[in-house]
Amino acid sequence: MEQSKKEAVVTPSELRKLGFCPTLYFFDVHTPAPQPLALRLRAWLGRLAHAIHHILRPGWVKEELLRARVDELGVVLVGKPDSYRINGANGTLIVEEFKSRKAPRFESPCVVNGVWLGDALQVMAYAYILSKVHGVKIERIELRLRYINKTVSLRYDNDLLVKYLKLLKDIRDGIFPEPGWVSRRKCRLCPYKEVCPYSPFSVLEDLGGERDVDSSEA
Ligand code: SF4
Repeated sequence: MEQSKKEAVVTPSELRKLGFCPTLYFFDVHTPAPQPLALRLRAWLGRLAHAIHHILRPGWVKEELLRARVDELGVVLVGKPDSYRINGANGTLIVEEFKSRKAPRFESPCVVNGVWLGDALQVMAYAYILSKVHGVKIERIELRLRYINKTVSLRYDNDLLVKYLKLLKDIRDGIFPEPGWVSRRKCRLCPYKEVCPYSPFSVLEDLGGERDVDSSEA
């Protein structure tokens, strides 16, 4: 009972948001505001695209609720990977996440190995859970992000996942983080854009976060 009190339940979707903007994650945790209509519509279209994607992927396990403990961090990861399957011939576990947007077309602070940082953290969190649930070594797991314009494979990076899990816990404890990078495109639909000190739309004094000229994730 005492142990479960100390455990932080974290979803891979939270890691995705953290990868997009740690400052936004802080606001969502401590002073949540309603999502703008445009974001709610985008989320609805994303769910529809996911449903169509799932119909077109027979033979895969889809949306299964799973959980795994990260003992060294006192964290329990809980979530539903879009789809996965175990290749019977060699025991390789393939984890796929479907994304209803395009893959990044350029390098930037929010891109890692050709995918959006938040997407990378999300699929790695699922890989961690699945490795524990099925007893598969991380080296035998393939990660794929299926964007609407292409599919990108990537390697599991435990250091990256642990780094952001620690940051997530710090933010929950009240640490106010920098966003890493900002741009008008990134911030234009953010519900906190007027009160965030790093925002180009802020009515507060500009704290001068690192500016990124462009990003298609906003
Ligand atoms: S306004 Fe921009 S920098 Fe600030 S929380 Fe929102 S997305 Fe992040």
